[in-house]
Amino acid sequence: MRVLLVEDEPDLGAAIKRTLSLQKYVVDWVLDGTDAWGYLEDQSTEYTLAIFDWLLPGLSGIELLRRLRAKNNPLPVLMLTAKDGLDDMVTGLDAGADDYLVKPFRMAELLARLRALQRRSPQFQPQQLQVGRLTLDYATRTVYCRKQLGEQHVVSLTTKEFQLLEYFMKHPNQILTSDQIRNQIWEMNADATSNVVAAQIRLLRRQLAVVSCAHLIETIHGTGYRLNATDEPR
Ligand code: CA
Repeated sequence: MRVLLVEDEPDLGAAIKRTLSLQKYVVDWVLDGTDAWGYLEDQSTEYTLAIFDWLLPGLSGIELLRRLRAKNNPLPVLMLTAKDGLDDMVTGLDAGADDYLVKPFRMAELLARLRALQRRSPQFQPQQLQVGRLTLDYATRTVYCRKQLGEQHVVSLTTKEFQLLEYFMKHPNQILTSDQIRNQIWEMNADATSNVVAAQIRLLRRQLAVVSCAHLIETIHGTGYRLNATDEPR
């Protein structure tokens, strides 16, 4: 789950990013509306949610929202605003905001609003994601691998392992390049090289080996990696 956070107040932005990271979101935090538009236009990243502050340097939050909706982009957007006038709320919702939160707010409320947005969005986040023999459980951050006779084996994953496996499971039987994986799983500007991707794949395979499923992630030499979803239990 990847979030674009656009907030120019350093303390608030850092606090939101910290809170969301603890909830296993990958967070790209930008302080400027123009930079944010660049991130949104970058086709190599898929955001689950966006949080726009209303008043920003460069493009305002409302302008970002209008541009997104003009392109028929359905990305769920929560607006943050210090304004609490009815006219402003109406303006925000008319421009296509899915929800708004008036500053100051409690982090628990922000998290609850984001969960509600995810439930309502077309990219609805299910409790479990199932692909072939693998079932990823969002609540417990574990993966189940179905074996013969319906027997299931389970292993817990770290945040990065979970995010990586989720990305594979959302793109089954597709070759994903190191660049694609890096762009999706690491934050923008993170110092992640293809070696880091390879190392993370090794760690994920080691976890999957515990449930005898390591072979499901195949290395396509010189190209990338693929999750084989059609593999049958051995
Ligand atoms: Ca602001």
